[in-house]
Amino acid sequence: MPRAPEPAPLGLLGGTFDPIHLGHLRLAEEAREALGLAGVRLIPAGQPPHRDTPSSASEHRLAMSRLAAAGNPMFEVDDGEVQATVRSYTVLTLERIRAELGPRQPLVLILGADAFEGLPSWHRWHELFGLAHIAVANRPGYAPHGRRWPGTLSAELDAACRGRITDDITTLAAAPAGRVVPFDMTPLAISASLIRDLLAGGHSARYLLPDPVLDYIDKHSLYR
Ligand code: ATP
Repeated sequence: MPRAPEPAPLGLLGGTFDPIHLGHLRLAEEAREALGLAGVRLIPAGQPPHRDTPSSASEHRLAMSRLAAAGNPMFEVDDGEVQATVRSYTVLTLERIRAELGPRQPLVLILGADAFEGLPSWHRWHELFGLAHIAVANRPGYAPHGRRWPGTLSAELDAACRGRITDDITTLAAAPAGRVVPFDMTPLAISASLIRDLLAGGHSARYLLPDPVLDYIDKHSLYR
């Protein structure tokens, strides 16, 4: 009997999304297009392990993520980390999604360069490579990727990535996990902290994030 075709890779973009902004959405959209993803799941963190308590409660960050994803049929919002009672560790989320979608489904964890550089501080980080591919986008202000990586990554990250890094995106569909793929996105120097600082200072953040998200922020008096 002919073997069923491999399912198209699914993108996963986790973040604090405090608030979600156009940098996140372009990252998801450009990853989807460049890497041939079937879609992208946006996964707001509940209690993120790496940082101070977010400015906004997880219900607000989830609601803003839903508003941001609305209207794009290729995006969906995964509320698993927000609903969980344990801290948000990516390895646990990948295990959950792997159990949900099965061993053959290619998964692509999408990271900006800053998040990728910080990978060795993540809980059980070596296991991430066995659960998903990792796609890394450039981000203004962080080390460029691609062929310059071997010189810029920390020794432990360099060692973990050896033999995994490829520009060949067809490898993403050919296996469920294990590749590291750098890709270029339109450089956008937008960050959630910039937006929080603007709003806290009484300045406009318009055009850095979707209007419905900004309306939500105004309505709930967030980041004042
Ligand atoms: P903060 O400013 O509060 O640190 P942030 O803007 O970095 O927040 P996160 O929710 O921490 O947002 O980021 C989630 C993911 O999106 C990370 O992988 C991060 O690298 C990536 N990311 C965020 N903004 C950009 C951007 N402008 N370009 C590329 N990647 C981005």
